[in-house]
Parts: sequence; C-alpha cells; structure tokens
Amino acid sequence: MPKIETTRDERPSVCPLDCADTCSLKVEIEHGRLKKVRGSSVNPFTRGKICAKVATGLQEQVHGPDRLESPLKRIGDRGPMATFEPISWAEAIETIYQNFESSIKTHGPLSIVPMAYGGPMGRLAGGSMDKRFFNALGAQQVNSSPLCAGITDAAYTSLFGDTGGIAQAEFAHSKLIVVWGNNITACNLHLTKIIRDAQKQGAKLVVIDPKKTRIAEHADLHLQLLPGTDVVLAYAVAAELKRLNALDEHFLKENAIGTESYFAEAEKYSLEQAAELCDLRLEEIEQFAHFWRDIKPAAINTGIGAERNRNGGSGIRAALALPVITGNFGPKGAGVCNVSGYFPTNSQALQRNDLISDRHETISILDIPNLILEPETKKTPIKNLFIYNHNPVAVHPKQDQMIKALQKEDLFVVGCDITLTDSMRYADIILPAASHLEYSDIYTSYGHSFLQRSEAAIPPVGEALPNTEIFRRLAQRFSHSNSIFDDPMFRESDEALLRTAIDPEHSAMVGRSYDSLTVNSPIDCSKDASGSVTPSLFRGLMPSTPSGKVELFSSALERECKQGLPTWTALERSHPFILVSPSSEKRTNSTFGNIEGHDSDVLLEINPQDAHERSLQDGQSVCVFNQQAELILNLKVSSKVKRGTLYSPKGAWLKQRSHTINALIPGHKADIAGGACYNDTQVDIRAYD
Ligand code: SF4
Repeated sequence: MPKIETTRDERPSVCPLDCADTCSLKVEIEHGRLKKVRGSSVNPFTRGKICAKVATGLQEQVHGPDRLESPLKRIGDRGPMATFEPISWAEAIETIYQNFESSIKTHGPLSIVPMAYGGPMGRLAGGSMDKRFFNALGAQQVNSSPLCAGITDAAYTSLFGDTGGIAQAEFAHSKLIVVWGNNITACNLHLTKIIRDAQKQGAKLVVIDPKKTRIAEHADLHLQLLPGTDVVLAYAVAAELKRLNALDEHFLKENAIGTESYFAEAEKYSLEQAAELCDLRLEEIEQFAHFWRDIKPAAINTGIGAERNRNGGSGIRAALALPVITGNFGPKGAGVCNVSGYFPTNSQALQRNDLISDRHETISILDIPNLILEPETKKTPIKNLFIYNHNPVAVHPKQDQMIKALQKEDLFVVGCDITLTDSMRYADIILPAASHLEYSDIYTSYGHSFLQRSEAAIPPVGEALPNTEIFRRLAQRFSHSNSIFDDPMFRESDEALLRTAIDPEHSAMVGRSYDSLTVNSPIDCSKDASGSVTPSLFRGLMPSTPSGKVELFSSALERECKQGLPTWTALERSHPFILVSPSSEKRTNSTFGNIEGHDSDVLLEINPQDAHERSLQDGQSVCVFNQQAELILNLKVSSKVKRGTLYSPKGAWLKQRSHTINALIPGHKADIAGGACYNDTQVDIRAYD
C-alpha cells in the first residue's frame, strides 16, 4: 500500500460504480480524509468530467453518518429499526465460522448462499478472493446476471458469440447513430458529447425510448414506443428494408445463418401493424427504415431499458440484427457497441472457478427469496445468506417478498457493505467494507476501451477492510476444518491478485506488461502498444457462435427456451398504466440513496393528459398501486412522459417508507436468460388525501 499523506494532497482514482463510463477521478485528501472529488483527464474518454451524483455523494458515502466502521452484531429485531453493537473482527469471523460450519454439518455447503451484485466494479473487489472462498467452500453458485444486463448479454451472444464489437468512442465516425433504450444522460454521460459532436459533423441520431429523455430532445428521430414493443419495431423495419431492396445480401450470405426464417417472422409485421402495436406513427417507422437504407456507417448502442420486459431478449436481438441485415460492420463507426473481449483480464485465475464441484447447481439471484420462503422447492434449504456488493431490498423486484425472506427466523444473514443500507438492517452480523479509495484495484469498462488502475488514496476508515482481506480472514479461519483453505491461493496479497487479474497473452498486451498500467496511464485496449487494432467483430474476428456466423436464428436459444427467433408477446393488461423505473440522475442503482438530496427525484411522473383525465395536479400526493403493493408518491406532470406510462427512477431507499416502487415490480421473467421484468410493471393511481 502506498504511503498515505496526512496533509492536503490530490490523488488519482477511478469511479468504481456500476456505470458504463468508469471515469478517472482526482480526489482531494486532507488529513487522510476525502475532501473533494473531481474528474481527471487521465482517462481520455471521460476527459475530466464526472456526474453530479459522485461529485456530491462520494464524500458522504466514505465519511458520512451511515458509514460502517466496525463489525456489528444485531441485538434487536431485524428490519428498519434494527439495533447493533460493535464487535471485534475476531468475534465476527468466529460467529460466521460457527454458523456456517454447523449448517454445513447438518445440511451441506449448498445451504450457504452468497448474494452479490454490482457494488464496486473493480476486478478485486467485484470478484476475486470472495469467489475463491465460496467456490472452495462448495457454497451455492448464484447467477446474478438476471438482475440486469443478463438478457442483453444473452441476446448479443446468441447473435455474435462473445466476440467484441465497437467501443462507444467510435460514434465519432458514425453517420447514423441509434441509441436504443439507453438514457445516456443519466447512465452514460460522456457518450452525449461524442454523439452531439458527431451530429455537428452531419450524423443522424435516432433515439428509441418511451420517454423524451434529454438525448431524445436532440434526436433527428425519436421513436417513443410503448414499453416492450421493441421487437415489433425492429422486425417491421427489417421487413421494410427487404421490401425496399435495401438488404446487404452479400454480407448476409457470407456471414449469417437463419436469414430466411428471420424474415419470415419479420414480415408478419407490416408498418401499419407495427405502428398500432408500438403506438407510433407509420411515417416514423418508415423514416427509421429509410435511415438504415440510406446512411452508412451506422452504429447501435442498446441500454438496459429495452431488456427489462417479457420480450426483452427478443427486442435486443431484433435491434442488433439491423446492422447485420444492412451489412454495417468493418469501417470505423459501423457496428454494435460492445467492448467485451477488449480487456486483458483473467477471471478464471482470479476467481478459480475450477474449484467449483462438477455436480454444482446454479440458482438465479432472483429466486433466492422464494427459495428461502419455500424451502421444499430446493433440495438443500438455504440457511445462510452472505450479502455483499449488493443492496437487495432496494434493487430486487417483489420487495415485500425479499423483506419477508430476510426476516425468516432460521436464516443466518451476514452483510458486508460500506454503508448501513436497508438490506444491512436485516443482517445478524455486519462486516464493514472498505470504500474503493482505501485499496488498489483494476477497472475495465462496459462502454469505453480504457483499462485503469487505482491505488489507495486514504487509510481505511475505522476498522473497514477490503473485500479481499475479509475473505482471506474467513479462509484462514475455515482452514481449521477444511484443508483446502491451506492452499497459498487464499493468502495471495492484493498486489499479487492485481497481477493475476491481467492476462499477459491477450492481444491488447502485445508490447505491454503489467507495469505499463499505472494510476496515471490507463491502457487503451482497442489497440496494442504498436497501434495495431485489437481484433473484434468482422475486424479480424468472426462471431464465436457455434456456426461461426451471425445467428439470426439461434439453435441454442431454441433448445433452451424455444426462442430460436425473436418473438413478441402482448402484455396481458391488468392495470391501465405501465410503470417504468429508469436510471436516476441522483443515484447509481441504489448507491447514494441514503444521502440527502440524492432522493429528490423519488416522484411519480405522468403525462399531462393522463393527469388531466384523472383530475390530478402537479405536486399532489398520489397512491400508486397494483395487486402486490401500494405506495404514496408526489406527482410530477411532465410532457416528456408517454401517455399510459408512469415513471419513477430506480434505486430509492426505504428510509421512512414501508415500500419503494420495487414492491410493485412483478416476479415474472423475460423470454431469455431468466431476466427481471422491471418495466412490465402495471399499476393504477388515485389521489391520496
Ligand atoms: S457514476 Fe458514471 S459518470 Fe458518474 S463518476 Fe462514476 S463512472 Fe463517471
């Protein structure tokens, strides 16, 4: 660990949050405490600018009243009013050991369930020693991707395998830019400037979003479709392109399979039908098709907005098929945004998945509450939950069910976090995690191509420890009863883990070594040291699908879930409004939700005409409800909201409320990857006096 200055100092860092931009930061430190956060220009993509949420929230997250500074033991009831008393690390580790060991003896290791998600995105904090520990313990394997982005990943993989596409910076060279279901101002800030600059150079921007987001206000074409109808729109455009003789037949013949069956399905949707189903004007869809016919190079960026419904996988697959059928690959500015594969990381070496037993079973993170409450549905009952890098009460659908599960008396809950979150209040033992300013880590991105490194900028706050050290200590204690934990891999230092995280054989590392990556010099993984471009989709690499081609018909998805082709399923209507819970400009997922001013957007937005028809006024309290729950929110009347939809941003904390909107979100799953359907939420509203 570098020497931490005790006087005023400015240090480089990286934003660790679950956001595509992964900004480089400059943190001002005084007497070992964070004073101020600014953007730094170390990362050429983020160029010194950061969002207001981190600029105003990070200091309080690190030093505020909710910061966890010592291990805690719960002494009262679980829940919002829970009280805790400080204990030593030794007692905390021993309590966890005793509970886990007793459970392993009675039920086996599958009774222990790690519940982690996208807290810190660093390679070490996000998945290294923790994974080794749970893998070696034989704990339950949990797939957390259904919560978010799993649908998009599965959709992309079905078409292209895991071959990476283009980085977002390439939009600078695009002449047609399609932003599909991504509110970039809230969750991909730096892409905005690239797009606006490209527009100044003559690029056309199409935004597909049910809401008139800030980027949509600048669009040449904004398609304000009904949530969940993306697949219909994309199919209708594909069929229209065929009618217009605008398909790249040569590209399709050479590089795609399933073309015939794809168009047989697409041609079921005429422009008229699509206009009706998507609630768009026919001319708008026609215009979109004409853009694809007339403008090249074209690039597409999909956000998570389009995946969060019953047709989510189909919508993303059909959207990503548009550059395929028009042959938009190869030249700069053409293709699909996806930087997976750019980064020289080595998850296997970090996480040691080879430790997982052959007979392991994997459960979805979405199913955990149900499996706790209905133990007969799982062979081994869940008796221990270890929540870390995650705030499930604020994040999961069916919030009431989640809370009920966390209250189950025979469940031992360990929580590990920086902050005393809503979820930590249900833990029996809380472990204080270090913030990313207190340890070194390496960061990839899911937007740009820069690999970044950070080092500790402040000493640990209180007794907080990095995740790596917490799991080292647990492994050490478990070595008393399980010899696997004697292996040196459980004693590897953070410095050794950082080296392990990098794959020196990766094409981006040609001419580079681990030492090329410093806090002041990120590595641009879109090229190697000599400037040779990292191979990607149709730039040296073919799709890594089973057929080696783009699979417009996916046999794998046909086998898995009868989704060989994208399909559209109508939403069975139970309530008049569809509630969308998009990204917030105040919080990153639920991070900062406890901080004053970071929940000022916890309102319900409604279209003026819908408000008028119900005699509802801007600013009044309304009750929003469905069969699962009801809650009170203040109404904001906004012409940006599509008729028939309501908006309330995600990631709010309970605070004094008994619910957040997550209580209204249903539990059904999307067409592929078992993904959550946040934006299929149907509700009604009434005035609340
Ligand atoms: S949340 Fe995103 S935009 Fe904000 S500082 Fe972090 S990476 Fe940058």
